[in-house]
Amino acid sequence: MLAAMDADATAEVIVIGAGIAGASAACEIAARRRVLLLERESQPGYHTTGRSAALFTETYGNAAMRALTRASRPFLFEPPAGFAPTPLVSARGTLLVARSDQLAALQRAFDECSRLVPNLQRCSGEEVRRRVPCFAADQVAGGLLEPDARDIDVHALHQGYLRLMRERGGRLLCNAEVRALAHDGQRWRVATAAGEFAAPMVVNAAGAWADEIAGLAGVAPIGLVPKRRTAITFDPPAGAAIADWPAVIDVDEQWYFKPEAGRLLASPADETPSPPCDAQPEELDIAVLVDRLTTATLLRVSRIHARWAGLRSFVADKSIVAGFDDRAPGFYWLAGQGGYGIQTAPAVARAAAALIEGQPLPADLADLGITQAALSPRRAGLGNAQAGACAASPARAPARVAERAGACAALLLACQCASRQGAKNEQR
Ligand SMILES: Cc1cc2nc3c(=O)[nH]c(=O)nc-3n(C[C@H](O)[C@H](O)[C@H](O)COP(=O)(O)OP(=O)(O)OC[C@H]3O[C@@H](n4cnc5c(N)ncnc54)[C@H](O)[C@@H]3O)c2cc1C
Repeated sequence: MLAAMDADATAEVIVIGAGIAGASAACEIAARRRVLLLERESQPGYHTTGRSAALFTETYGNAAMRALTRASRPFLFEPPAGFAPTPLVSARGTLLVARSDQLAALQRAFDECSRLVPNLQRCSGEEVRRRVPCFAADQVAGGLLEPDARDIDVHALHQGYLRLMRERGGRLLCNAEVRALAHDGQRWRVATAAGEFAAPMVVNAAGAWADEIAGLAGVAPIGLVPKRRTAITFDPPAGAAIADWPAVIDVDEQWYFKPEAGRLLASPADETPSPPCDAQPEELDIAVLVDRLTTATLLRVSRIHARWAGLRSFVADKSIVAGFDDRAPGFYWLAGQGGYGIQTAPAVARAAAALIEGQPLPADLADLGITQAALSPRRAGLGNAQAGACAASPARAPARVAERAGACAALLLACQCASRQGAKNEQR
């Protein structure tokens, strides 16, 4: 039986993890329920949320993630009055680009995405070069412009949710690592570094650690695989007016770059499986990036200002996992946000609040074809995302090793790395 507990130690819902997933869900749930948000670190947003590229793009990810992005658009573009002191998004645009041998892939992207995003624009190679003058004629043959893509102010979004959660009576407790979870027949008892807490419902929003939290609770894992992604910032070409450049993304997602506070942010779009950890950038991934950018564009990386890495966590089908686990009472999963956790957070948080109230998904999500079954933690198609990655990789592995070796040599020759200290949280 439950021993008497201090009122401060109890809640109706305990949310574990105060990244964007936990903060947004806690805020929406707090409109109706007494919420306690537990975070292991001394500040929220320290892990993946503080390390993103901060893009909102409706052409990214599978159909389910694109629909959740679409459903988040109204909130991000027009948040409730007083939610944040500044707009949550600003103009950016994305430009998917293709060499001549990639034009079929560009056509496929257009065919697939234009149903949801009707104002996508096909561009010639010449038009791409006019908009982003850092390609030679033989480096780009076409593009796909998404004019409504935006930069997201992740800090404003995250802090806005935390502030509104508090206004609604919710509490955030940092330095409160969850170390044990047990259901006593009535409530989940949650032992943390900051004491013991209890609630009938828990929301597992622990990012890369979500399967570990499930393990503490005796709940079967969902096969989550955290995958490291690396980013750097570097100087743009001298005299280039980059502020209005869109984010430029290789159609096969081998690299991307975008303006970032007067510099260029770039990534090799790496997806290296990793245990849950405080991810750090690796020299080889930066070398691969430099090599790919040098091959695909006229850009030269002469001085790296910041470098960081974060973990994007996926299940095998690459859709988010959001729903109650039917094998554990009151255990709600909010995991597998992959590379879309910021841009989908508003819709996913509203879904969590509805399901926790025992209601159906909000009508606007259902209208976009989003179903509880597609988000369920026990849907078919989960399992080990690592297995999926390995199955796909043998053919590419030798090429990748060779590319890395060549890239490393190129980096040593070409790149004067100005800053060697980790700057992983620059984006926060
Ligand atoms: C380089 C990069 C670029 C990206 N670009 C984009 C982009 O352009 N657009 C986009 O939408 N997304 C992007 N993403 C993905 C996005 O950042 C993630 O999907 C999102 O931040 C995941 O949020 P989260 O809250 O699930 O995880 P996190 O931010 O990692 O939060 C999980 C929290 O749980 C806490 N926690 C873990 N275990 C415990 C425990 N035992 N007790 C208490 N707390 C615990 C952790 O400390 C952490 O704070 C990018 C990611 C990377 C790395």
